[in-house]
Amino acid sequence: MADAERSEGTTTATATDPEAAAFDYDVAIVGGGPTGCSAGVFTGRYGLDTVVFDRGRSSLQRCAYLENYLGFPGGVDVETFYELIHDHVEAAGCDLVPELVEAVEPAGGDGSETADAAGPSFEVTTQDGETVTARRVVAAARYGGDFLEPLGDDEMFVTYEYDGETRTKFDRDYADVEGRTAIDGLYVAAPVSEVNVQAIMSAGQGARVGRSVITDHRLEQGYPEDLAAHWDWIRPEAELADEETARDDWRERFDSRVPDDCDLPEERLHELREADVERQREMYVSEETVETRAKRGRERLADHLGVDADSGPAADSASDSE
Ligand SMILES: Cc1cc2nc3c(=O)[nH]c(=O)nc-3n(C[C@H](O)[C@H](O)[C@H](O)COP(=O)(O)OP(=O)(O)OC[C@H]3O[C@@H](n4cnc5c(N)ncnc54)[C@H](O)[C@@H]3O)c2cc1C
Repeated sequence: MADAERSEGTTTATATDPEAAAFDYDVAIVGGGPTGCSAGVFTGRYGLDTVVFDRGRSSLQRCAYLENYLGFPGGVDVETFYELIHDHVEAAGCDLVPELVEAVEPAGGDGSETADAAGPSFEVTTQDGETVTARRVVAAARYGGDFLEPLGDDEMFVTYEYDGETRTKFDRDYADVEGRTAIDGLYVAAPVSEVNVQAIMSAGQGARVGRSVITDHRLEQGYPEDLAAHWDWIRPEAELADEETARDDWRERFDSRVPDDCDLPEERLHELREADVERQREMYVSEETVETRAKRGRERLADHLGVDADSGPAADSASDSE
């Protein structure tokens, strides 16, 4: 993972993970457009080792100019937008690899699962022949899912008639609304019905699927169902009157959500509880931290736009307008 790139705001607390290092990556995302980058920002910020592959046919690259993505009142050119979303996934700690994925198959090649106790995993192979393993794969390539064919699930593809010929295409309804599929560890964020027609909706779906991945990872770690969902929120430290009392409250809330029939050993439960309390704590930031991050955010944005963060438009464009 690109640790040096991990932003200060990235959450890092994890319970000791029994599956750690079983795979090259926790998550491999195929496609670095709005959908895949958005998923990566969530999984990366959570602390899952994430790789985003991005190359090949892109829908967004065909857009002449993006005018309806919230937050850009004058619109944004597609090149700048791409640079921003790619910078964002790297800031979230993901590795961004400019390679085309040709095949995703079960690791070990045995048809469904590895022999590893950590559960099934995948081998992701790129056009240049490089292979990485990942516990989870998110498909986020709007124009199709041919690279998923080696997984061998016929349900992924549907046939249709075109010009007298029978053709096959990826079934846009293969995944459920949260991106989960019949294959453990495989998620589809794109292509999906009704969603990928607009960039901002695609980013929203990417975020949603990213959160599904986090939930499933937490379930696998042992978190009970009621504690599996994760909120990536940042809150003002001023709301935190007394840290020790807050920590006790979080522990209490955690315990109240553990079902009576939970069969985790007390030691593991303690580990998960303390990791969760630590995550809660990390959500709160001081005014000083907010200021530092705001400055960093302005500078990073200004850098992309080629302007000076403190004094507005760069000198040459200022003089142009005089
Ligand atoms: C002509 C045109 C104009 C449009 N104009 C607008 C508009 O003005 N506003 C709007 O909101 N939406 C617009 N859209 C729709 C918008 O482009 C999509 O909603 C959005 O880009 C979908 O995001 P995505 O990440 O799912 O897919 P994409 O944008 O297609 O991104 C997928 C990424 O995955 C990569 N990739 C693909 N296959 C692989 C692979 N096998 N391995 C590795 N990487 C891979 C691609 O290189 C690409 O970068 C337009 C679309 C078109 C075609």
